[in-house]
Amino acid sequence: MHELAMVRGIYNVINEQIKEHDVKRVLQIRVVVGALTGVEDTTMKLCFEMYVQRTPLKGAELVIKRVPVKVRCRVCGNEYETGIPFSDCTVCGNKKMQILSGSELYIESLEVE
Ligand SMILES: [Zn+2]
Repeated sequence: MHELAMVRGIYNVINEQIKEHDVKRVLQIRVVVGALTGVEDTTMKLCFEMYVQRTPLKGAELVIKRVPVKVRCRVCGNEYETGIPFSDCTVCGNKKMQILSGSELYIESLEVE
């Protein structure tokens, strides 16, 4: 499952931080997830809860911050938010665009004790 791989990745990063900084407990994990990653919030949270069940991260809250897909039209420079599949430029109707955001996936911050 896609989300499980993501959770595993996040877990590995945090686990190293915990060891390095002698953290007792992780209270909250804030992650930034772009719409292009295909990650679903509820699935991700479920995976996370299951995955950390027997780890020091048990009980930590996973907060997901969604980033919408934003593109820039290569013809007129118009910047707009779009769903998937991408919609044509809202100004000139062109299909050639550059992706500005939406593929993010990283840990924004950790709240620890
Ligand atoms: Zn355009």
